[in-house]
Amino acid sequence: MIVKDFASKFAALRKKSGITQKKLGEYLGVSNRAVSKWETGLALPSTENISKLAKIFDIPVDYFFTASEPAPEKKQQPVGMKSLRALYRMGRGPSSSHTMGPEKACMIFKQNNPGADRFKVTLYGSLAKTGVGHGTDRVIRETLAPTPCDVIFNIHQVELPHPNTLELEAWSGGQRIDQTRVISLGGGRIQIDKYEDGEGADIYPVSSFETIAEYCLAENIRLWEYVERIEGEGITDYLSEIWRCMKKSIKDGLASDGILPGGLGVQKKAKQLLNRQHIDESAETRENRMVCAYAFAVSEQNACAERIVTAPTCGASGVVPAVLYYQQQKRGYTDIEIVHALAAGGIVGNLIKTNASISGSECGCQAEIGSACAMASAALGELFGLDLDKIEYAAEIAIEHHLGLTCDPICGLVQIPCIERNAVAAMRAINAVSLASFLSDSRKISLDKVIQVMKETGLDISRQYKETSEGGLAKLKVK
Ligand code: SF4
Repeated sequence: MIVKDFASKFAALRKKSGITQKKLGEYLGVSNRAVSKWETGLALPSTENISKLAKIFDIPVDYFFTASEPAPEKKQQPVGMKSLRALYRMGRGPSSSHTMGPEKACMIFKQNNPGADRFKVTLYGSLAKTGVGHGTDRVIRETLAPTPCDVIFNIHQVELPHPNTLELEAWSGGQRIDQTRVISLGGGRIQIDKYEDGEGADIYPVSSFETIAEYCLAENIRLWEYVERIEGEGITDYLSEIWRCMKKSIKDGLASDGILPGGLGVQKKAKQLLNRQHIDESAETRENRMVCAYAFAVSEQNACAERIVTAPTCGASGVVPAVLYYQQQKRGYTDIEIVHALAAGGIVGNLIKTNASISGSECGCQAEIGSACAMASAALGELFGLDLDKIEYAAEIAIEHHLGLTCDPICGLVQIPCIERNAVAAMRAINAVSLASFLSDSRKISLDKVIQVMKETGLDISRQYKETSEGGLAKLKVK
């Protein structure tokens, strides 16, 4: 009876989570046949694996063996996570939610409607309010070309499933032949009502730092090894390409000068920061100047719609590369060491993306710059060989001190305050790691909890401070 009780509850939880028997087996170090036997009531897992499963599904161990159905509320939390390939993406700026997401949606829609002679795209919410500044309409027309496209900015509809909603229509001979709704979730990720979103299945069986850390400690592995174990060795090549792209955006940004596009008249400053050495400059001032130069370089490339890496978004793309490039220049870390650091930072970004948000229009700038700072802190912690507790603490500090940060880019352009914010967050990541390396014994709040708080705070932030051009700095007149 106990075995049967366990089997039915376990099977229901696993199917709901979307994790395959194979992936779960790999994670627990058993065969997928063994997992299948647990589900069909032919065997029970070991006590150790039962408590691991309870953690994975976020339920009390007792649940498997008590008569109560259904499982407690907590299991509504997401269980698995997608590949880091869906977090770190190479693409053109300036906004992952306002340009990369709509671009991807239009590509999918165009492929599925080769017979269309006209498209119509309606933008709602934040996409309608800041779409012109971000270049959303331009990207949509370019992607759907040569077929003509009408782009409508509907700023009046407020009842929306998400602040970044768009509706795509395909027309032929005056008849509407297809229509679908799309949500641009941030970081270039989309959800399309009608078609495959190309995001792939969850490949990580868990989505809490606590469970990942327990696994790493039990297996005596570092975070990057965990990533490689789950994603396979190919992830190293992918992250190496990501690192090459990050370095290129820094180098190109440092070599560039002039005025950023968009009409605000913002001068590019990365090159100035690089070259403007103070007389008697202290080591600390130099560090500040160089890290900021690198962050400006990437952010300015992003503002110019050049190729960058979402880390986790376009608007926050300067933070992670800036701190890692600085450390490589200063201490000579190898590319592979940096790639391992990117893997560790990616885990933190993935946890935030899964359990909270990486979208400024959904949860404010804390979700973009705060997430980037947490990723950079974890990446630095990995690079410095800190233990898991300290890495977690560094990421937690980084998020905690960005809680409530508003998203209010002037004229909807990802320039003011976004570019400086990348530089400040890069410096803050360095501070967070220093603090964590001294103080981790005193930690009272877990990374998982602060991610939850970030989500709650983000949902509570008033709408005008979430990429709508209606409040905060966005209301200022610029000279
Ligand atoms: S203010 Fe922050 S969240 Fe908003 S566009 Fe700028 S970087 Fe992104």
